[in-house]
Amino acid sequence: MQLQTILNRVQRHRSFVYRNIRWVESDRSSLALEVDIEPRANGRAVCSGCHRRGPGYDVLAPRRFEFVPLWGILLFFVYSMRRVDCGSCGVTVEDVPWGEGKSSLTTAYRWFLARWAKRLSWKEVAETFHTSWDNVFRAVQMAVEWGRRHMDLTGILSIGVDEILWQRGHRYLTVVYQIDKNCRRLLWVGQDRTTDTLLRFFTWFGEPRAANLKFICSDMWKPYLQVIAKAASQAIHVLDRFHIMSMLNKAIDEVRATEARKMKNDGYEPILKHSRWCLLKRPENLTTKQEAKLSDLVQYNLASVRAYLLKEDFQGFWEYVSASWAGKFLDRWTARVMHSRLDPMKKVAGTLRRHRELILNWFRAKGAISAGIVEGLNANAKLTMRKARGYRSSKVAEIALYHALGDLPAPLAAHRFC
Ligand SMILES: [Zn+2]
Repeated sequence: MQLQTILNRVQRHRSFVYRNIRWVESDRSSLALEVDIEPRANGRAVCSGCHRRGPGYDVLAPRRFEFVPLWGILLFFVYSMRRVDCGSCGVTVEDVPWGEGKSSLTTAYRWFLARWAKRLSWKEVAETFHTSWDNVFRAVQMAVEWGRRHMDLTGILSIGVDEILWQRGHRYLTVVYQIDKNCRRLLWVGQDRTTDTLLRFFTWFGEPRAANLKFICSDMWKPYLQVIAKAASQAIHVLDRFHIMSMLNKAIDEVRATEARKMKNDGYEPILKHSRWCLLKRPENLTTKQEAKLSDLVQYNLASVRAYLLKEDFQGFWEYVSASWAGKFLDRWTARVMHSRLDPMKKVAGTLRRHRELILNWFRAKGAISAGIVEGLNANAKLTMRKARGYRSSKVAEIALYHALGDLPAPLAAHRFC
């Protein structure tokens, strides 16, 4: 069997034929093949402006298009592009079915690289296939652009809004996820976390779709709260449980650090040393050693322990079924905290009081939104960002996020190369 037969099997072009094949020198790997492509006799070229066939104008110098490598052998198509003397567009370069624009990679090869870039880092893909990081990036960019143009936005009922720190903690990206049970994916990424950022999401999403939303999950970041109240007021806005608990944990940490410092300055034994995780973890997750440390700690009337016990009490909040009973619990709990003389905890209680209704929406949305769903998606996003370390522009980071988490569609091809 000849290589032309195989090529015709995996990628046949009606108006073109595969001709001569020869070995050539390659600086990137030891072996490379060139395959000549020629137009069929009396086949007219397609104008790249209007995609209609037109009379020929002239023929350009041969160009190389890299195809999917075969057994580790680089493969190039060589073709002399024709120019079309188009009645409506003037003189244009022809459209060829295996490539696009000025790209020196065939479309099949770009989809091949993009698919591998879901499994490996872009650097690894470039190394594995003897190509450049830039080529992998542009392949992913093409896949993302195609996928974003063809993604289905119908039937979206729940979304989650969150943020990711980016560039060593200097800047934020706002991310919006679809969090429906049957479809969880990244919908949109935007720079910063201002009202303008989220407004841009809603502009992209469109008013009719926003009016269809039933649930929106977010943290307590004020610009988000403001935009959501304005752009999708009919949706039940739920404050994410994960964010509430992490706010409490931060307060405990603050109480413990202040207290530990004070004890040290006053010359007491450092009993709070190594206590951090005892106080932050749920009791069922403690190691035996941490458990012993915790029961040791509760012997003392420490501010840290009082803060810890208040947080553990608060866990009971999530057990409620009815929003009104949960509300009563919340009022009692915040009242107790206000008498606790633990300033960081009082601050949290104040925040919870201010957002009482949104927090109680958790119970009104019960069953529709699972705990930590946004956080789970965001953990994956952070992982992608970590792998993407070294990306200079946020544009590149956005493309990486869409590629990894957007669940984007891809065109159906006659043959899948990987
Ligand atoms: Zn034309």
